[in-house]
Order: sequence, then C-alpha cells, then structure tokens
Amino acid sequence: MTVSTLEELVLAALRSVTLGQTGPDIVSSGLVYDVVATGPAVRVLLDPERIPDGDADALGDFLAPLVEALPGIERVIVKPRPKSIASQEAKPVARYILGVHSGKGGVGKSTLSANLAVALGLLGLKVGVLDADVYGPSMPTLFGLSGRAEEMNGKIEPRAAHGVKIMSLGFLLPPEKALAWRGSLIDEGLPLLLSEVAWGDLDILLIDLPPGTSDVHLALAKHAHLSGILTVTTPGSLALIDVKRGMEMFADLAIPCLGIVENMASVACSDCGHAIPVFGQGGALALSEETGLPLLASIPFIPELSITGDAGVPYVIAAGDAPTSKSITALAVRIAKQIPAEALP
Ligand code: ADP
Repeated sequence: MTVSTLEELVLAALRSVTLGQTGPDIVSSGLVYDVVATGPAVRVLLDPERIPDGDADALGDFLAPLVEALPGIERVIVKPRPKSIASQEAKPVARYILGVHSGKGGVGKSTLSANLAVALGLLGLKVGVLDADVYGPSMPTLFGLSGRAEEMNGKIEPRAAHGVKIMSLGFLLPPEKALAWRGSLIDEGLPLLLSEVAWGDLDILLIDLPPGTSDVHLALAKHAHLSGILTVTTPGSLALIDVKRGMEMFADLAIPCLGIVENMASVACSDCGHAIPVFGQGGALALSEETGLPLLASIPFIPELSITGDAGVPYVIAAGDAPTSKSITALAVRIAKQIPAEALP
C-alpha cells in the first residue's frame, strides 16, 4: 500500500471504525483495500468481497463524512475497487514500476519515457522499458534498434541500448500485426511481455502506456503491479481533459500519480530566445493546482529532442549538458527516490 502523509491520516481515521461492536477495525480487516490521494481529493477503495451486506453505498455514506472532516481534504470518494485489479498472480518484475501516460497521442510521452529511462540508467540504476503502446510502438526507433528479440532458455531476451533493457511488440511482430492487437490478445499478450521476458534484476521498469484510457491500461493494472504513474501533457487545455480522465482511472485502480510533466511547454524564439507558448499556456500548472500533484518538469519544444529520437540516440546522451537534459536528469532523481531504499546502488 502506498502511503503519503494524507493517506496515513485517512487510514488512521478509518482505523477508528470497527466491524460491529467488538470486531476488528475496517483497515486491518482488509475491508479498506487502499487509500489514494490525488492532491486534496481522496479515494477510499473497498474490497468488494468484504463489504457488509454488499451495501457499498451505505458504507460510503457513513465513511465519507468521517474522512471529509480531516484537515486538507476537499473531496472524498468511497467505492469498491474494480474487480480487474483482483488478480496479481505473478511477482512484479522490478522494485518500482512506473506507468507513463498521457491523455492524447503525440504529446511526447514515448520520447520522454526513453530519455527518462536513460537518465535513470545514468544514475546507476538497473532500468527496463516496456513499450506497451501497442498501437504505435516507438521504442525500437527511439533506442535505435531494429530486428527481432531472441529466445533463450525458454524466455524472450529483452533488447538493450544506452544502458536500458527494452521490450516492445515491435521486436516480436511486424508493425501491421502489432496494430491488430485487440481484445483477448491484449489481455493475454501483455502479461507475457512481463512474465515471459528475461528482465533480470531491475530497480525500475518504465511502461510506456498508450494514450487515453483503454483495455491496455486495465490489463496492465491487473498484471503489472504498477507502483505509480507519471502524467505527460502539453500545456493546452484540450489535452488536459483526457489527462484528468486517465488520472482518475488510475486513482480508481489504487495507483497513485507521482506528478505531471509538461512537454512542449514553449518554443524559444530563434532571434531573441524569448519563450513563445505555441502549444497553449498555463494548463499544466492549472492541472497541478487543481489536483494538488506537483508539476515535476517543464520541457520546452526543441527540435533536437525529435531529431535525436529519430536517430535512436536519446537526447540525454546526445546533448547531456543541455539545460533540457539536466531537467530530465532532475526528474529522474526525483523518481529514483520512489524506489524502495534497498534497491538503490
Ligand atoms: P507520444 O508518445 O505522446 O505519442 P512521441 O514521443 O512519439 O509522442 O512524440 C511525438 C513527436 O513529437 C515525435 O516526433 C517527437 O520526436 C516529438 N517531440 C516530443 N517531445 C518534443 C519536444 N519537447 N520538442 C520537440 N519535439 C518533440
């Protein structure tokens, strides 16, 4: 269970509620499955199997005011957790598993995932990237890899480049077949990319999620043991509506959001260097204020990020000293702090 101060506060309050007069409290009995705070908005997720009389509404009506009365809390949702996160049979493949998501495609989520993975590797961590963007796998290009993944001793060997292990459908199927992944293939195929790949000992696995909310997200929530998510957005408000929907979905699945990364925040004028807000302005900051989640980084639009991505040499390697590389490294340092201490080198 992930805890922050606010979540601990909520759990402590919920521990004062017991089942019946003498029964155990609702947290230690497992009735409260998890508490996830998205800033001042708190979700209390209940184990559907343990709700007395199956009446989630009555329990919600009873618990919500109790939590609402706590300091720093503005909104409370009490609901049963979805059944889709019930089965997590396999062990997690890394000590920390970070899903990188966005509301829309084309906001730079994959480019950022690749650079962040390399930056985490440069910090001395053992890093993997799972390209779960099944409709447009781009990790092979971003890491300059082509060809197929090999099988060894009954497991698929991840490819490796720039200090990172990478697995993508692009290494297993021709692109037109990857695009045809639907329905049961997603539910059955995605877990295999976790369990049948020889990931070895990983400190952190980044999962490049498809944009929006889809079966892929649910399949991964069910099988991948996501520890947290990182939200990538451009500053424009249209993209933000979808982002919020995604954040809510993950909170419902008891997966906390670490914060927001704003990409393509501005373009520097080639004459005077002045920052021009081509893709809108202020949206990510507004989202941060609304959700209470930190704005972790603001990455400008720089053509070199795209050029280096197409060339398969991530920007943090090609231009390690550039200010944007340093921003991505600073982001990597913040994320590395989430990894359980014993995993750090
Ligand atoms: P997504 O994964 O969200 O679909 P991509 O990472 O594929 O987005 O990026 C979409 C396009 O934008 C790519 O051509 C990429 O090189 C480019 N791009 C991403 N971030 C930046 C940036 N900060 N500056 C310039 N180009 C960028």
